[in-house]
Amino acid sequence: MLASAGAQPPGRVPPNRGAQPNSGLFQVSTLDAFSSGIYGASMTLAELRQHGDFGLGTYEGIDGEMILVDGHFYQMRFDGTMSEASSDARTPFAVVTMFQPQVSLTVKGATMAQLSELIDSVLPSKNLFYAIRVRGAFPVMNTRAISKQFLPYPPLSTLLPTQSLFTYNNVTGTAVDIRCPAYVSGINQPGHHYHFVSDDRKGGGHALGFTTGEVTVEIETLRQHTMWLPADEPFLRATLPPQ
Ligand code: ZN
Repeated sequence: MLASAGAQPPGRVPPNRGAQPNSGLFQVSTLDAFSSGIYGASMTLAELRQHGDFGLGTYEGIDGEMILVDGHFYQMRFDGTMSEASSDARTPFAVVTMFQPQVSLTVKGATMAQLSELIDSVLPSKNLFYAIRVRGAFPVMNTRAISKQFLPYPPLSTLLPTQSLFTYNNVTGTAVDIRCPAYVSGINQPGHHYHFVSDDRKGGGHALGFTTGEVTVEIETLRQHTMWLPADEPFLRATLPPQ
């Protein structure tokens, strides 16, 4: 695995000391609420787009994986089809930001675990949020997508055994990585969370593992985190965190 610096050498990712009103992480609902089966729609993509042009999430009823790249919402469904979601589609859980990378570096030949470790080694702290874009060649990309659910929604843990798995070989594309601190457990996923969309927009999903060829890694440090919460009955009545 090789890493070379772009804008700044590794170890110099800035903590982003200035106040940036348009550059925080915005999320819909909480991971605990979502995992316990609150898959009802909360926010339209048109509304969500006001808060970010880059991010990840899912769609109403877990109808596929969301990959938001350059302001376009891609929807990777259980049946292996990728399409662009319409602006009136809705999401029960998403994390987005207006992506303004501060640092870029080049990495060659890393597994998902190695890439995560390398990125962590150049971050100023594990206690901040990061949006990370990984673009380039992926000799292997393994993803998943979950089938659309209908009421009453079962908890996420019961659906994982039924997820569709996809393997792409020698694909080029963009991995969206949102890295959250360990202390947000229950609110969001601690550590790295990668979603992927191929350059031909035909494949992708929630990444379970990959190896990179040569990829460009761009990192933005985020010091603001906004949560927008559902107001529907399932969320209002839920016991959170789940017992
Ligand atoms: Zn995911």
